[in-house]
Amino acid sequence: MSPSPHQHRNGSAGDSAEGRVITAARLATMRDRGAAATDDEAARLGAIEAAAVAVRDGRIEWVGVADGLPRAYADWPRSPAPGPLVTPALVDCHTHLVYGGSRAAEFEQRLSGVSYEQIARAGGGILSTVRATRAASREELVRSAAARSAHLLREGVGTVEIKSGYGLRIDSELEMLRAARELGELLPGLRVRTTLLAAHAVPPEHRDRPERYVDEICEEILPAAVDEGLADQADVFCENIAFDLEQSERVLRAAADLGLSLRMHAEQLSASGAAELAARLGARSADHLEYLGPAGVEAMRRSGSVAVLLPGALYTLRETRRPPVESLRRAGVEIAVATDWNPGSSPLGSLLLAANMACTLLGTLPDEALVGVTRAGARVLGLEDEVGTIEVGRRAELLSWPLEDPVELCYRIGGQPTPHRLVGDRWIDCGELAAEAVRWS
Ligand SMILES: [Zn+2]
Repeated sequence: MSPSPHQHRNGSAGDSAEGRVITAARLATMRDRGAAATDDEAARLGAIEAAAVAVRDGRIEWVGVADGLPRAYADWPRSPAPGPLVTPALVDCHTHLVYGGSRAAEFEQRLSGVSYEQIARAGGGILSTVRATRAASREELVRSAAARSAHLLREGVGTVEIKSGYGLRIDSELEMLRAARELGELLPGLRVRTTLLAAHAVPPEHRDRPERYVDEICEEILPAAVDEGLADQADVFCENIAFDLEQSERVLRAAADLGLSLRMHAEQLSASGAAELAARLGARSADHLEYLGPAGVEAMRRSGSVAVLLPGALYTLRETRRPPVESLRRAGVEIAVATDWNPGSSPLGSLLLAANMACTLLGTLPDEALVGVTRAGARVLGLEDEVGTIEVGRRAELLSWPLEDPVELCYRIGGQPTPHRLVGDRWIDCGELAAEAVRWS
């Protein structure tokens, strides 16, 4: 990899130990107002006009209207935000960013009328990504993931979750997670959370005995990943083309016993009851949910699991079935939105475009989509006390946008302006953070 002049810098290393007051025309704090919530959209985004944020050691000490700034902060130096709107840094809580190879040729084949099944039988589909990922060195995996990360950094993503799931055997699964961890160490401003998704597909060598692979996940892969400190969460693709309910439950129980928090790819292609299982096991989220029914919604409401919407996959697969957003809203289930960036079903490199698609294709309101790429995404990753909102005690991961209205962020179909991000006591153009990622690619 090419050497970088900034290789020791990261999101926290630049934090200034001295206090500083950020001022902005408008904050969209994304805080949860709970019972105080109203139907007013600005109120739901926790907007504060003519605002100030007191920051020390990278943490927020005070937030409010600038006129009300307590005397204790009055002498602190000021850093006015360069644009009118300030939001928390974005959180992409569901990606498969680390992988080898490309599926562009398959995209072309599908558009020419070749079926997914024919492609899979000819060795394409997910198994082609598995072959390419197994064949890639860790350095190659990190480099290609760094190039992808640049796109997320440029639009203001500060935290990304990355799953394994293209190794499907112990050495390659662990190598994917090591690459993800390494990416987080290399890139300034990108916090990486890792998820073991060994139960993504049945590997070809276990095609006739998937139970053996489930044993291997529970008895070898999960413990090894936890021993090496490589995984924060575990995930399962519960679907008729992947793992059934019983197999999924075995994997998730084994993961919970090892102290991992749980996720699940649920109800994407069929109504399976996977979301109810996820809720019963206390999973942080159930993701996709195109076929989620009333019982699943109710189970998620009770468990507090977050519904993660992944419109990029629905768009790419040209699915007509949509997640029941209206039912989720009425039940008060929190909704997150993510890119699901992966080479097959969602080669989507923009979280703000995912937010736009959540509105246009799935029926979320703009404020729901924006909370979905900040506060709710943080909650899915267990980082709700750290990032995703502008509140006292949270990290001061702030973005400044040359926009007045937060709805602009998900109204545009791409083409959003590049924000500035507060790093230490400076507002840095996110294009610079992206350029640093490109240097590692
Ligand atoms: Zn996924």
